[in-house]
Amino acid sequence: MRLANLNGRLAVVAGDAAVDVAEASEGRFAADPQAVFAEWDLFREWAASLDTSRGDSFSMEDLGPPVPRPRQVFAIGINYAAHASEAGYPPESAPVTFTKFPGCLAGPVCEVELPSGTVDWEVEMVVAVSRETAGVRREDAWDHIAGITLGQDLSERTSQLAGAKPQFSLAKSFANFGPTGPWLVTPDAFDDPSDLAISCSLSGETMQEARTSEMIYDVPELLVRLSRVCRLFPGDLVFTGTPSGVGNARSPKRFIRPGEVLVSDLEGVGRLTQRFVAKGSGT
Ligand code: ZN
Repeated sequence: MRLANLNGRLAVVAGDAAVDVAEASEGRFAADPQAVFAEWDLFREWAASLDTSRGDSFSMEDLGPPVPRPRQVFAIGINYAAHASEAGYPPESAPVTFTKFPGCLAGPVCEVELPSGTVDWEVEMVVAVSRETAGVRREDAWDHIAGITLGQDLSERTSQLAGAKPQFSLAKSFANFGPTGPWLVTPDAFDDPSDLAISCSLSGETMQEARTSEMIYDVPELLVRLSRVCRLFPGDLVFTGTPSGVGNARSPKRFIRPGEVLVSDLEGVGRLTQRFVAKGSGT
């Protein structure tokens, strides 16, 4: 099942069409896409018998972030060995954990105004938590995942590295620095949700290309480690880390310029498209 945020309303997407959940359920489930996670199991039960043949066509531009207001957004750094190596970190150290402040989340197709500095791409698989939990056991971890989506962990490297210590969270939370989507896909829709092709290209040049099975700490392990410390809530997001090929690690370094388009893909999920504009020229 694919769950989308269409003009701020929860929709089930089947093929090229979307079914409005609040209408189809006659108000049993709210229109707010964030509200569904509070009664996730009941929703899945209801949606299993939903007739998706009567959906309406829609435009990708009208999609918002599938999880618009997560209570917590966890983000993991240095989670692919090749990226650890290009960034100069030992791959065997613990997962680096930070947040993207939720105000930076955006939909799958959007314009991003470039702040001063050096803006870089980081394509990432993102998972959404399905229920309140702590102390997740590895064997149960996928039961705590509502779905998988695609994200860009856009990062402004100059402010990230400006302080006495790296400021990941702040430098990755400018407006629209967290595009996600195009929808949330439930884990049962994949043959193997832990082995998906992931890539991104800038101005037509492939910059990152990997498989999510290359993660150092896989999704179950991340949930185990995060939930040892933090209580997880329905609709929380986890950005699971980026593969190698970021601009900051290239020689020469390569950052996003005004007018460029970043296209990101995740197998079985879909595509994000971000167009970048100069500071002060955002619409
Ligand atoms: Zn990242």
